[in-house]
Amino acid sequence: MNDVIVIGGGLAGCATAYYLARDGVAVTVLERSELNTQASGSNAGSLHAQIPHDPFVNRGPQWARTFAPTIGLLHRSIDVWRGLPAELDADLEVSLKGGLLVATDESQMASIAAKAEVERSQGLEIRLLDRGEVKALAPYLSDAIVGGAFCPDEGKASPLAATLAYARAARTHGVVFERHVAVTRIVRSGEGFEVFAGNRAFRARRVVNAAGADAGKIASLLGIAIDVQGFAIQVAVTERVAPLIPHLVYSAGDKLTLKQNQAGSILIGGGWPARWHSRGHPSTDPDSLERNMAVALAAVPALGALSVIRTWAAVVNGTDDWKPILGEVPGTPGFFINFFPWMGFTAGPAIARIIASLVQDKPAPFDVDLAPFLLARA
Ligand SMILES: Cc1cc2nc3c(=O)[nH]c(=O)nc-3n(C[C@H](O)[C@H](O)[C@H](O)COP(=O)(O)OP(=O)(O)OC[C@H]3O[C@@H](n4cnc5c(N)ncnc54)[C@H](O)[C@@H]3O)c2cc1C
Repeated sequence: MNDVIVIGGGLAGCATAYYLARDGVAVTVLERSELNTQASGSNAGSLHAQIPHDPFVNRGPQWARTFAPTIGLLHRSIDVWRGLPAELDADLEVSLKGGLLVATDESQMASIAAKAEVERSQGLEIRLLDRGEVKALAPYLSDAIVGGAFCPDEGKASPLAATLAYARAARTHGVVFERHVAVTRIVRSGEGFEVFAGNRAFRARRVVNAAGADAGKIASLLGIAIDVQGFAIQVAVTERVAPLIPHLVYSAGDKLTLKQNQAGSILIGGGWPARWHSRGHPSTDPDSLERNMAVALAAVPALGALSVIRTWAAVVNGTDDWKPILGEVPGTPGFFINFFPWMGFTAGPAIARIIASLVQDKPAPFDVDLAPFLLARA
């Protein structure tokens, strides 16, 4: 019998398996497809520390105060990202040159300042910049930018590399990866669980649900209700150019994240909605693409000379209130959830360390209050 079965071979699952195995725990990961083929391998690679501006504006300061403790988790995770290339012995393209949220008018500046106040209350460093300071820091930005906020801890990493590097390292610690096995049934059995996938049954004392957008379906196999959803969103990428944009750029005017990856391509996203194809998979929405490109171009005029060479759509795991759902499910001892919505690429490393500790009945490894995220509401 395994000590632990992890369901899901994305970043959450592979990283949790790695940290468990590093502690000597026997782990099997069950993945219905290939590793890193869902959100973890299709995201935009932003490492976020700040409160996202769009929900801040649309949901207001009360929501921001509820969301605020999440900043601590993101911040701790970025610290883990700093050491991750050495830990996993892999080039993960981690670059932390800061995030720049830019404004084109004074009302946007006012909401940036209000957001910065909540962020600073959580210990996050945010510098408000006037027009001249923004231009000095980021000469590639449009002259229409009147100011912004700089968060020095933010940056980017490679979604193509990170999860697979965790999986490789996990294998060296003995983790078994079973791919193309979709979990369809879970039953409690003796002191543990029997997990049915394909025509096989796997047994373990503990189970970690790291199924991303499908975490709700997996939880429901044990009669557990968690309010999680999958949203189709899209990203676009340009041809490669010489280094132009060192920062992670956001707009306070509309949804935007923009960064240049190590290869020189500029990734443009920000959570614009994609469509659902009639066959059930996400597909790019041209209207969203057009609007996303317009916001990007308004921030960085030099993008006008570049071609978008590829767009893609994928499903992001979300919750309505943006709060993570973590830990052992009350009433179902031994069954754990690792679900970090919307920004799970950033948070993945720290959350995986936390879940790996909780699964082993050890205290959480960071000095953060987990109470707001633990599963009282499941
Ligand atoms: C387009 C896009 C852009 C994004 N940009 C960013 C960003 O820039 N920065 C950021 O921090 N976050 C970003 N995110 C969010 C981030 O990618 C996700 O929050 C994170 O990757 C979730 O990781 P996960 O391992 O929980 O889920 P996933 O990577 O989706 O992995 C879940 C795995 O579970 C498997 N699974 C599901 N059901 C079963 C089953 N029944 N049996 C077996 N296996 C199963 C799936 O096949 C999948 O491989 C973005 C997401 C998308 C879609």
